[in-house]
Amino acid sequence: MIYLIGAGPGDPGLITVKAANILAHTPIAIYAGSLVNPDILDYLPKEAEIYNSATMTLEEVIAVFQRAHEKGLDVARIHTGDPSIYGAIQEQIDWLDEHEIPYTIIPGVSSFLAAAAALKQEFTLPGVSQTVILTRMEGRTAVPELESLERLAQHQSTMVIFLSVQMMEDVVSRLLKGYSPATPVAVVYKASWPEELILRGTLETITEQVKDAQITKTALIIVGDVLESEYELSKLYAADYSHAYRQAKP
Ligand code: SAH
Repeated sequence: MIYLIGAGPGDPGLITVKAANILAHTPIAIYAGSLVNPDILDYLPKEAEIYNSATMTLEEVIAVFQRAHEKGLDVARIHTGDPSIYGAIQEQIDWLDEHEIPYTIIPGVSSFLAAAAALKQEFTLPGVSQTVILTRMEGRTAVPELESLERLAQHQSTMVIFLSVQMMEDVVSRLLKGYSPATPVAVVYKASWPEELILRGTLETITEQVKDAQITKTALIIVGDVLESEYELSKLYAADYSHAYRQAKP
């Protein structure tokens, strides 16, 4: 069996119990060395064969799957956060389907969720924003024109921007096409790692702050009025609101 595993955002305690239990019995592992915390490898048996995919091509990763499958051995393919977000797992899934090699996907805690926890922040505040956009600036990977930051900014929703902090100036100038300059922004570097760092500012100040802190990778940019605004209390816990599990108090 090939296990495609989300290892969580960094803190080894943020892997799922299910994934940790699987790792404990997996003889072969391939991990995304540029982002996965190497401490995660401590969950593997001592004698496990470990590959770092940072230096491998898709063909080389697949060759490991193939050889293990032929020998009847399990493989843990360890991705950072959750593999469905910028995880490049679809090409592995499609290859496994095509070759009828059984696999299971174990979800993980994505870094955008660890960033919310670090910020002690709900991303969906009533009356402010009920939508979270997860996106990125184009880099070597293109982004469809309809999803450009300036277009998405028109919604003024909560937005979490991956893979883009090294282009902060450009990010901000595009966001300003939709959000006002006073809109709060946070940059969370290495959420859940010991070296985690949080910058809070506005669209006017954040570029300078990121430059001063010398953050150029492994960070999320979070934009939106949820970070600093008056909001309505949730209906879910409001005394005058009934729902399936609770009657309104008179
Ligand atoms: N699948 C991952 C994302 C992989 S793309 C997930 O679900 O989180 C890599 C990008 O994710 C980085 O460039 C950075 O923008 C973000 N990232 C990953 N781990 C992070 C962390 N611990 N703190 C902040 N950003 C992180």
